[in-house]
Amino acid sequence: MRQPLVAGNWKMNGDRATNEALLNGIKAGIGDVEQSEVAVCAPFVYLADVQRQLEASPIRWGSQDVSAEPKGAFTGEVSVTMLKDFGCHYAIVGHSERRSLHGEDNDTVARKFAAAREGGIRPILCVGETLAEREADTTEQVVGAQLDAVMDAVGPAALADGVIAYEPVWAIGTGHTATPEQAQAMHAFIRQRVADRDAATADALRILYGGSMKGANAAELMAQSDIDGGLIGGASLDADEFLTICRAAG
Ligand code: 13P
Repeated sequence: MRQPLVAGNWKMNGDRATNEALLNGIKAGIGDVEQSEVAVCAPFVYLADVQRQLEASPIRWGSQDVSAEPKGAFTGEVSVTMLKDFGCHYAIVGHSERRSLHGEDNDTVARKFAAAREGGIRPILCVGETLAEREADTTEQVVGAQLDAVMDAVGPAALADGVIAYEPVWAIGTGHTATPEQAQAMHAFIRQRVADRDAATADALRILYGGSMKGANAAELMAQSDIDGGLIGGASLDADEFLTICRAAG
């Protein structure tokens, strides 16, 4: 049985005051979330605040990126060791915004996955196709290559130390959620792609859906057999909305 995970990706939003209010709101309602694991991925500069506010709670936290390098002359980068200092449990790697806006390719993402995992942080590996790729009928090719790059780099069994998030780029921040059937089809494809190399890892692997998930559509997405939770952008910035999603996950 895979425990559902609902993780908020705050992206570049919030300030100290709004973050504190948001976390207070989530903490106030977390007691109603029975089964699901809950996490928030905050901007680097707020991780110390988040740690202080969440360390006595069941809510976990993480970063939105991590350097592939352990240390050195990499201005502006943040290492796994630094994230460990602030109690991060997760690090998102390969978010489509990092891939498209910061030129991260499959190889870079695979190196970030490996660095996080080796340093004891669970990577949340984002994969997903653009609208043009879907319309060109290359969705499986694109997502398959994104997965293969990581499995080639770290071996399929290492995926067990992380989480996959399927985030179709056309659904991110657009309000156009994938239908439960579209999402399930891709989640099943991802699980099968891993199973082709390591069946036991595939069976245990949590695959989250991300892309305009909100309180109103979470339950039907989570009801799909291969959807094990969500990676939530906009809706994670509102405590009630986020908690509704967490409760829908179990
Ligand atoms: P939205 O939920 O805002 O569509 O963002 C999804 C996402 O990119 C989470 O990482």
